[in-house]
This record gives sequence, C-alpha cells and structure tokens, in this order.
Amino acid sequence: MTQTTVTQTTVSQTTVSQTTTTTTGTELIRAEQVTVAYGVDPVIVDVDLTIESGDFVGIVGPSGSGKSTLLKALIGGISPRSGSVARRSNMTVGFVPQVEQIDWNFPVTVAECVGMARSSGWRTPWISKKERAEITEVLDRLGLHGLDSRHIRDLSGGQQQRVFLARALFTGAEIIFLDEPTSGLDVKTRHEVLHLLADLNDEGVTIVLTTHDLNGIATHLPTIVCLNKTVIGAGTPNDILVPDILERTYGSPMQILEHGGMRVVVDAGPHASVIPFDRPAAGQ
Ligand code: ADP
Ligand code: MG
Repeated sequence: MTQTTVTQTTVSQTTVSQTTTTTTGTELIRAEQVTVAYGVDPVIVDVDLTIESGDFVGIVGPSGSGKSTLLKALIGGISPRSGSVARRSNMTVGFVPQVEQIDWNFPVTVAECVGMARSSGWRTPWISKKERAEITEVLDRLGLHGLDSRHIRDLSGGQQQRVFLARALFTGAEIIFLDEPTSGLDVKTRHEVLHLLADLNDEGVTIVLTTHDLNGIATHLPTIVCLNKTVIGAGTPNDILVPDILERTYGSPMQILEHGGMRVVVDAGPHASVIPFDRPAAGQ
C-alpha cells in the first residue's frame, strides 16, 4: 500500500455573516451561518465552513450530531432554514451515500451501476464502446477488475463502497462527499478505502467525508471538523484532538494519548471504566 502525504489543510471556519451565492478564488463551497431543521427544532445551527479545492476533510461528531444533515446542506440536497451555502458554479459533485441506505437488491450489475451515474443518464439499454472502456478503466483503478457483470448485491462491503466511488469518478467529480464511508467495514478494508481516498486527493480531488470513527479514520486526515449541532472546532488533528474540543463535541471527557507519532483518543468518561461482572459461583 502506498504511503500518501496530504498537505493541504485549508478548511477554515469563517465568521462572515452577509449572504452570498457564489464562491471566490479556490473556494468550492462556503457555508455561512447555516441552520437546518426538519421540524420545529433545528438539527444544525449557525454552521460556518469553507471547503477549498484540494481539501481532505473529515466531519466528526457523535451519532445524531448533524453530520449527514450538514453534508446534505453542503451538497444542496436540503435547504437551510437560515444562512447560505455558496457553491462554485459548474462544479461536478459526487456523493457516496451510507452503504446501509442503499437498496442492494436493485437489479443492476457493477458496470450498469457505474454507468448510470452520468448525469445525462442512459436513454438506451446498451453501453457505448467508449463508455464501456471508461467504466472498465475506472473499475480497474479501484481494484474491481473483472466484476463488471457481477450483481451489486453479490459484492463485499468494501467492494460496494468502491463501486460508489467508481460512480463518482466516472462523472469526473472534482469534489466527492462520502457519508460514513467505512462504517461496517473491517479494519483492513477501512484502510484500503482511506488510502484510496488519499490517492484521489493527491491527484487533486477534493474529499469531504463524515465519520463517527475518530481513531480509525479522523486522526489520519489532514483536516477535521468537529460537529455537535454547530462547528466546535476545525483544523489539523493536532489542533482539534484536544480534550476541550473533544469533550464539547462528544459530551464526555476524552483522554488523548500519543502513539507512534499519532494521537489516539480514549474515552475517559465514568462509563469507560471496567465494570466488574460478578458471576455467581458454580452451584449457587
Ligand atoms: P448524524 O449523521 O450525525 O448521525 P443526522 O444529520 O443524521 O446526524 O441527524 C441529526 C438529527 O436530525 C437527528 O436527531 C436525526 O434524528 C434528525 N434527522 C435526520 N434526518 C431527518 C429527517 N429526514 N427527518 C427528521 N429528522 C431527521
Ligand atoms: Mg449520519
């Protein structure tokens, strides 16, 4: 597996309050004071976040902290109740949903699933030779060689994840959003997906993902955004993996350990201690 170095860490929290509709310079997306609600109560509040070209960002936070909602708001799948999200015009966006939310029984093969991602859609039931070659190339690239005709249901979790990455690449996406890309994957496959994303980022693709997995994923990313209804902090792992920010994000004390030059986060709350289990003695 290749070692990749990702150096761009340009995500910034902005405090600008005026409403804007387009981005400037290298900015791809700028969210300002974004509040989103499904019902009466907002689920994310006053979020300020700027994504620049080349960023590799992990949005972390506990379950229900609004990660998926923020992702949808950044993409434009949901409108903020207040605030604004500016996007660079003519930007090609790829979205990789949580694998748990996909209907894997939908009757398509790997090649069809990838081919359908093109915005023009398939109006004919066949794939052109040119498209077929492009699909084969992207599948090879993602380690899915020879699986073109396989039903998407009959793939491993890691392969399914990569099929959806292949869809994003097939559209030529400049920015790819992934919602919990490694949930349900074993450690080895999780690393493979992470390295693949880092390689794509090295090639210039901007990556924004959500994860609840701090140690397995977030600590490996160049930029982390801590979310708990609003942005608690954004920056490098060294800036962000500190007790104060983590406690405000997760609502319980966290301990930071150094291991092999990396920070490892350990739950330090009272519930983290080992609870003795008194097994009744035999014969009782
Ligand atoms: P996360 O991805 O961090 O787990 P979500 O963005 O999925 O958080 O959810 C944030 C909150 O919004 C949760 O309380 C969730 O129940 C609620 N929520 C999410 N989607 C919907 C929806 N479509 N309708 C109503 N409430 C929702
Ligand atoms: Mg989610």
